[in-house]
Amino acid sequence: MRNPLILRGGLVLRFGAAAPERLDIRIGRDGRIAEIGPSLSEGDAETLAVDGQLVLPGLVDMHQHLDKSRTRPLLDNPSGTLAGAAAAYRELAPSITKEQMIDRARRTVEACSAYGTVAIRSHTNIDPQTGVRGVEAMVALREQCASRMRIQIVGHITSGATSMLPESEAWLRQAVDLGIDAIGGVPAFSSEPIALLKLLFDTAQRSGLPLDMHIDEHLDAGRAMFSEIAKMTRAYGMSGRVVAGHSSALSAMPPDEAQRTIDELREAGVGIVTLPAANLFLQGRDADRLPPRGLTRVRELLAAGIPVAAASDNIQDPFVPTGTGDLLEIARWTLLAGQFGLSDLRQMFEMVSTVPAQMIGLGADWGIREGARADLLIARAETIDDLVASGAPERMVMIEGKVVFATTVRQHQDS
Ligand SMILES: [Zn+2]
Repeated sequence: MRNPLILRGGLVLRFGAAAPERLDIRIGRDGRIAEIGPSLSEGDAETLAVDGQLVLPGLVDMHQHLDKSRTRPLLDNPSGTLAGAAAAYRELAPSITKEQMIDRARRTVEACSAYGTVAIRSHTNIDPQTGVRGVEAMVALREQCASRMRIQIVGHITSGATSMLPESEAWLRQAVDLGIDAIGGVPAFSSEPIALLKLLFDTAQRSGLPLDMHIDEHLDAGRAMFSEIAKMTRAYGMSGRVVAGHSSALSAMPPDEAQRTIDELREAGVGIVTLPAANLFLQGRDADRLPPRGLTRVRELLAAGIPVAAASDNIQDPFVPTGTGDLLEIARWTLLAGQFGLSDLRQMFEMVSTVPAQMIGLGADWGIREGARADLLIARAETIDDLVASGAPERMVMIEGKVVFATTVRQHQDS
């Protein structure tokens, strides 16, 4: 229990508001937002002056791979392709201990936390080399990091496991028993993609967990699975509980076919996550000129009213060798690679905050509203557009009303 705290004088982005307003926030002893309003009275609270700074809800990174994070120095991916990355990790995976995995993942969690991320959904390998070892490690990590990050774990059927359906069913049962938060996998890797998709939907239905899958991270429109996913989402009654990550093949379809597919996804209630870092790095390597961006049709999906989040995907591993954990950087890349416009910076911010918060089910616990956890990003920037464009070198991050990271920027004068 801590003393109540008043954040005074900030430009506060209330949940659902179009623009920040100058308001105070009272944070209770329980680390939750007790009151929001102009000029709140002091009472028994301590005061933290945040005059003129933006006070925003903490960011949400809904698609990462913490189990693989920071393995870059241990392997290589000479082809630079998705297949090359998967093969490189497959070779390394058996030698990685849970402790090593947790140590590397914790460094990434700390980096993300320092940039204002307050929740991460981590797709965690279930494969023939390691079974559910990664899930066990991430369950331990989720516990260890609980005071600074809300971690969700996706049981991610990948690599050779995608074609081993009876074994994968058993691994998923174990993963559900270990306490995963969502079911996922890569149907495009499978020798029986539809059968794997059905297994994932069956498991989701049986366990009551949502689905968050890697869908069509390739540029071959001929083997796209979107229609099947829309059909199963309706058949299983899972509208609003199915997420398709990547969905790159949508950009390989002719416009009229893509529009029909987008309409199917909207009607079924499927959400999309775009992962610009991975797609810019991995896709289109076989083009001998004008390589494609590899991103899905982000603008068309948003125009159709489909929820689209943006996320980091891999951080410093064979799938993406770079990565800072800064979601504002991902927002910028989404704007650039998705060819958005000058007035779209605010929408990019929503794609790393409100949209993923809703998609991973943080509900009324998240956002600047009474009763929510005081998980906040307080940043020196004049507007949200400026923040997305420039980033936040000067910022403070709070979890349940407690500062977990702060940085200041000081100009040094010649004397
Ligand atoms: Zn991924």
